Amino acid sequence: MKTFALAGNPNCGKTTLFNALTGSTAHVGNWPGVTVDKREGVYKGGAEKVAIIDLPGIYSLSPYTPEEVISRNYILDEKPYGIINIVDATNLERNLYLTTQLLEMDVPVIVALNMMDEVEKVGDKIDVAALERAVGVPVVAISALRKKGIKELMDRAIALRAERRGSTVLGGALAPKIERARQFFEAGGVASPLFHAVKMLEGDEIELKHDGAKELYTEISAGQDMEAAVADERYKYISAHFSTAKNKKEKSALTKSDKADKVLTHRIWGLPIFAVILFAIFHLTFAEDLFYINTIYSAANGGNGLPTFADMGYGTLGDSEIYENFGIALAACFYDGAVFSPGVILTNLFNLLLNYINYGIGLGVEAAGAAEWAASLINDGIVGGITAVLGFLPQILTLFLFFSILEDTGYMARVAFILDRIFRRFGLSGRAFMPMIMGFGCSLPAMINTRTLADDNERTATIRVIPFFSCGAKLPILTAIAGGMCELFGLPSVELITFCMYVLGIVTAIICVIVMRATTMRGAVPPFIMELPAYHIPGFKNLMLHLWDKTKHFVKKAFTIIFVSTVLIWFLQSFRWNWTYIGADDMGESILASVGQLIQPLFTPLGFGSQLGSYGWVFAVAAITGLIAKENVISTFTVLAAMLVAGFEGTEDGIGEAVVMIEATGMTPAACIAFIMFNMTTIPCFAAVATAKAELPAGKFGGTLVFWLVTSYLVGTAIYTVGEWWWTIFIWLAVAVAAAAVIILHNTGKIKLPSFKAKRKS
Ligand code: GDP
Ligand code: MG
Repeated sequence: MKTFALAGNPNCGKTTLFNALTGSTAHVGNWPGVTVDKREGVYKGGAEKVAIIDLPGIYSLSPYTPEEVISRNYILDEKPYGIINIVDATNLERNLYLTTQLLEMDVPVIVALNMMDEVEKVGDKIDVAALERAVGVPVVAISALRKKGIKELMDRAIALRAERRGSTVLGGALAPKIERARQFFEAGGVASPLFHAVKMLEGDEIELKHDGAKELYTEISAGQDMEAAVADERYKYISAHFSTAKNKKEKSALTKSDKADKVLTHRIWGLPIFAVILFAIFHLTFAEDLFYINTIYSAANGGNGLPTFADMGYGTLGDSEIYENFGIALAACFYDGAVFSPGVILTNLFNLLLNYINYGIGLGVEAAGAAEWAASLINDGIVGGITAVLGFLPQILTLFLFFSILEDTGYMARVAFILDRIFRRFGLSGRAFMPMIMGFGCSLPAMINTRTLADDNERTATIRVIPFFSCGAKLPILTAIAGGMCELFGLPSVELITFCMYVLGIVTAIICVIVMRATTMRGAVPPFIMELPAYHIPGFKNLMLHLWDKTKHFVKKAFTIIFVSTVLIWFLQSFRWNWTYIGADDMGESILASVGQLIQPLFTPLGFGSQLGSYGWVFAVAAITGLIAKENVISTFTVLAAMLVAGFEGTEDGIGEAVVMIEATGMTPAACIAFIMFNMTTIPCFAAVATAKAELPAGKFGGTLVFWLVTSYLVGTAIYTVGEWWWTIFIWLAVAVAAAAVIILHNTGKIKLPSFKAKRKS
């Protein structure tokens, strides 16, 4: 099978083309650096099947960044049949810089001129035939997004001849020098001698390692800065031949994107705007009062809100009522005293469906005359646990959809840019923020994405804080407990609590990175050069692919890991140590209870330890089960709530369960928040831990586990103590200031501390 590698600048549409060719669903995001590893697929639409490799995006073939090394080594070592060089036609000059380097290799190249739909939309013209003559390899105009020209591209790619000698656009005074170097490599029997010759002239370290290369380099360069000369030559050639400027219509000085950026990346307003956008997203996902209609109405009517269905005499809608009055149950998904937000409506509808299913299963189990323990296993353990988790799917998807839209439009890239501007001086670069922001989706790809960071210490610090960017699986903990708090403590809104928790997670992450970068994880902050991608309307299909991926992943998890965990938890809390079934008796005698009670005191400083009432150990247990998958925290609640309250009907949104738990144990609001934040910042799920282990530089894994434990413990304790005794904030502040002072004094050399060894890189 012939193999073709996709090579091109970051964000030129490689993955979009890869997906279009192979029918795969790899992640496409409108920011540079999404693909960091190579990915393989098969294209079946042509005369023969061919393998396609998606390489990471690169600006050049110099071995400066990990992406460049991966791409360069792949082409040189694996020798693909041909390279499909994707060129963003809206940015022709910059993209061709890489093309001129690819052409120097002894490998067949075909240029895919992508984003031609954009070019046509703005009314530009590109003379494809002229470009083809100039570069000397086939050039095909395509639109990967709209799937135009792809067949032609592949037909011509498959028809490429297997042999091609490298060619260069570099001429003039450089030509004889390159020729000498080329002969040197050719004599040495090296493949792609021209490519190596040019790289050697650029002073590329890898090339200078060849025997005799250093001497030759010194002789040829004669003290000149050859790297600059070569780059200069390339740009000169490109702008002389392909300057798009000359055939462009006179453009207004600012494009629409530029205008939007003036506002969205504003020095002062950029960050507040991001906060407002984030809040709007949370409002649309979680709000029970979408347009604040009820809030306004009740303000105008002396505190009396709009009538709920209960006010209208329909009672609370439990399982049986749903069957008696389906119409009302359905209407109550959309309105109950106020119009719900889209996220809440979807959740309600989905849960109505789950309710039916559970009710049906319950009736079936009853009809089958199952033994008490079997009925409990099915209803409380399996069905309860899984639906408790599945019930969150609509909200996770809604939130994820909004994040995908932000990413696809190109806004998230701006967020990285804004954050870079603020935090660069603290050792945090925009490059590191991109994987962190990806963490809102799932920590796993986000941790893998840190491969784009060149500095090991920056990478370690980033991987450690990625879990603090709360992922979809942690959402159930947040909404269920926030919902329970609102119900029990009369707090105003779930969305506000959730939003604050997300922000608190981000703030914790930033503080941790700043501290690490000032102490154990020092290193230079590499310059952040990212050109901001143009804003564009996200492709519907791409968004749906993202959502579908997420759904698959989540459902699979619910029926595997979470299924097994809930059954295990059900078992541990349904049986005594002597293997007798507890049934309706006190679950305080269960195996789980005794284990829970053992670890419970550990959480006393965080508010959910020994100070809690008789069932206080359930929070400790939930926190531990979360180490397997964060969804387990809530499914554990569900299983346990069913035991605490006889005849308890699961609520599917976890709020009822949280209410039961909080009431039974006497958790205070501060302890609830501490519990949420502990789960958010402690050791992440099993899968994330394994990924971290694989991605962290050698020897950093143990420290990372300790870091997670210590951070979550400190954050939880701080929240609980301050929430309970407000004046303790002064103690915390004093400690923080003292620690900061010590670090600053140490780093400026004013005091000497033996402890943290400075690992300063040059
Ligand atoms: P990669 O970084 O090179 O893998 O680029 P991606 O495939 O992730 O695409 C970057 C952005 O460009 C995404 O937002 C795509 O939707 C968009 N894009 C890709 N191909 C096209 C195209 O042909 N036309 C337009 N208008 N947008 C495209
Ligand atoms: Mg990509």
